[in-house]
Amino acid sequence: MAKISGDVSRRRNTAMRYFHALKDHFGDLHWWPANSTVEVIIGAVLTQNTNWRNVEKAIGNLADRRCLDAAAILALPISELEQLLRPSGYFRIKTQRLRRVMEWYAQHTRTDRDALAKIPTPELRAELLAINGVGPETADSILLYALQRPIFVIDAYTRRIAQRHALLPDDRCRDYHSLQQYFHQHVPAQVGTYNKYHALIVQTGKHFCGPRPQCTHCPLREFLPASSPLRRLDWPDQTVA
Ligand code: SF4
Repeated sequence: MAKISGDVSRRRNTAMRYFHALKDHFGDLHWWPANSTVEVIIGAVLTQNTNWRNVEKAIGNLADRRCLDAAAILALPISELEQLLRPSGYFRIKTQRLRRVMEWYAQHTRTDRDALAKIPTPELRAELLAINGVGPETADSILLYALQRPIFVIDAYTRRIAQRHALLPDDRCRDYHSLQQYFHQHVPAQVGTYNKYHALIVQTGKHFCGPRPQCTHCPLREFLPASSPLRRLDWPDQTVA
């Protein structure tokens, strides 16, 4: 069996220590709040540049209209789909984007509902990224949460925590691929673990690691680098911009 080098092993431990510290604090979280594969895909497209509450309203509109499947969405007049998606913001752009993603989904599943399961992950990812308006975060959210592929999703919270903890040099923390590679190298490639880890990071971002970090009670505080000025936050009401 190949021997894991000391450096890789140490960093794997670091990445997993973060995971366990967050799990101890928040519990065994599971993501994504949806009832079907198509609903996850719709949510992944609509959640760009808005909060989840607005996405829920738009999905609720689609559900009320019995349009939570690709064929029904594509059959809707564009003006009507725009109105249903209006609560999610940028609704005209998102209408076009959602239609393109639904066309992609329908093409694959029209004659065989399991067709997507037979396509290798790199091929699926390349197809998703080729759709106008689909970036890496949306593509990877679809791959992980809708299609159960072991792909780590990087979002603004992940990037911010990685930068503040200097997990990688700053320019590599900003780079989607480099940061994703870090997690792929140091966290076991399991759908369940990637799913939970991302959910835990989102909770950390929402509760502690916003634009003004609340490190004092954060479960990741002990992992801050010794040189970080954030370590000097000793009181609950102290924040650093
Ligand atoms: S709030 Fe502070 S301790 Fe928590 S993740 Fe952000 S920088 Fe780290």
